[in-house]
Amino acid sequence: MKTIISYIKPELKRMIWGLSIKFVGTIMDLCIPWILAYMIDNIISKRDIKQIYLWGLLMVVCATIGVFANVYANRNAAAVGRDVTCNLRYDLYKKINTLSSSQIDYFTVPSLISRLTTDTNNIHRTICIMQRLGVRAPILLIGGIMITLTLDPVLTFILILIMPFIAFFISFISKRGVSLYMSLQKSIDSLVRVIRENITGVKVIKAFSKADYERERFYRVNKDVSEKDTTASMVMSLNQPIVNILFNLGLVLVVVVGAYRVEKGAIQVGVIVAFLSYFTIILTAMKSVTKLFIMYFKAEASAIRVSEILEVEKDLDIEDVDMGKTNLKNSCKSEYHIQFKNVAFSYNKKSDAIKNISFEIKTGDSLGIIGPIGSGKSTIILLLMGFYKIDEGEILINGVNIDDMNKAELRNMFGVVFQNDYLFSKSIYENIDLGRNLPDEEIKKAAISAQAMDFIDQSEYGFQKIISQKGNNLSGGQKQRVLLARAFAGNPEILLLDDASSALDFKTDMRLRESILENYKATTKIIIDSRINSIKKCSKIMVLDGGQIVGYGDHEELLKSCPMYFEINEIQNGDL
Ligand code: ADP
Ligand code: MG
Repeated sequence: MKTIISYIKPELKRMIWGLSIKFVGTIMDLCIPWILAYMIDNIISKRDIKQIYLWGLLMVVCATIGVFANVYANRNAAAVGRDVTCNLRYDLYKKINTLSSSQIDYFTVPSLISRLTTDTNNIHRTICIMQRLGVRAPILLIGGIMITLTLDPVLTFILILIMPFIAFFISFISKRGVSLYMSLQKSIDSLVRVIRENITGVKVIKAFSKADYERERFYRVNKDVSEKDTTASMVMSLNQPIVNILFNLGLVLVVVVGAYRVEKGAIQVGVIVAFLSYFTIILTAMKSVTKLFIMYFKAEASAIRVSEILEVEKDLDIEDVDMGKTNLKNSCKSEYHIQFKNVAFSYNKKSDAIKNISFEIKTGDSLGIIGPIGSGKSTIILLLMGFYKIDEGEILINGVNIDDMNKAELRNMFGVVFQNDYLFSKSIYENIDLGRNLPDEEIKKAAISAQAMDFIDQSEYGFQKIISQKGNNLSGGQKQRVLLARAFAGNPEILLLDDASSALDFKTDMRLRESILENYKATTKIIIDSRINSIKKCSKIMVLDGGQIVGYGDHEELLKSCPMYFEINEIQNGDL
């Protein structure tokens, strides 16, 4: 919460200025009924036209100032709200970008997205409304009661008598309504999830003839949403009629008691007219105050969710080294380019994803990694890139521990294709370049090495062809080749390919291997693949199982020494 307030502080001057204008406008609004009452009782009866014009003019002036002041103040409030949220959202976005991979795992991506969108939006709306009504409503409420007290204490008493009832009903019903809406929101979330799964998974659902099952699932959540919506609306719809009944009852009482008092000569008719206006003003203000409270509580929940991210301590595990201090070039004392020394790591700190991993690769050599799903292959490259901090052991590049390197410098060394990597809705060219401003020839060379030119040339737009969201307008193999080109471009020191050619046909895959060997001789390569043929020419091959190395050597050695490798080879290449 403190964090959010620190965003409001710089705007305090503007806010106070706006609120002062609002104050003036509200006072003007409060004056009008009083002037009216004064005119009815004291001026009109004298039939002095000049005086009537004069007081009438005063009313017009008050009303005009009121309107302009309110409009100005509301615009000011909107501007303050906009600037506060803009800064907040910007910092939140920046902060999310600095979160470590384990922190992102902890918060989860959908939650980060909703904090960045729905929650900041809630805060924005509340900051605006608070400025618009936060001053106005209390002034109208208190000022109104004070003025009515001077007009006639007895009638004010009726007003004060009715107020607690109305306040009670509004807050009781709204509280109930808010909790119902909260649970409705949760049901809507699951409805959205089911819809999203259904629509993105529509092919699978059809392929497995699961449409009926899914329809049933949708029917259930849909019914849940509509039932909850009905209940919440029913409860909330009670609000208006009950408040109206009490309100009108109050008005009737004012007129009856007022008439009685006029007859007795205690007050004049104008007072009743003014009272009816004040009654409306005061009760509307009261409704606004209750609404403000409800909004505030909702925004507080959002503010807590946003602050959680803003206040999260920088993950000490990934504390970064200053740019330039890495000194990689001078420390080439190691004969190995990449070295893992007895590395162990666990995502959840309970069971190890990998352990006892040791290997080394010389510059320009290649390491193939093969093993069953979940054996820790992808984890190895994530650790090498410094996305997670290892629990045990050391990872060295050119003899320098990666913990002692600046992360940006470290990551600049790699060209990488992650498993299920991501393409952006931009042109093929921009997807390969990825903001690095590489020269055209470099991009072209990368695309040629990635065997991507044939389909790029086929398209009438060539490199400028726009890739649709998640690369949906490309085939699996085309996507992989754009991703490979991205990894090749920029001539990285180290190439990491995680399952990067699974969608390529054998011939293209073979040509790709040849081109990597030929064009990237000096580049150190780690290639994860489930096909033995794709990695058998690597200088070394590592076989992983359950996070441990069960075989290490070249193809021929492994066939003899590693039963698992032998078996995979038999299945893929044998005569079985
Ligand atoms: P592979 O690439 O060999 O299929 P991974 O390296 O992706 O395997 O995963 C190794 C193990 O770590 C698996 O048991 C997987 O469930 C677990 N794992 C991977 N990523 C995460 C994560 N972000 N959070 C928790 N566990 C994970
Ligand atoms: Mg993997």
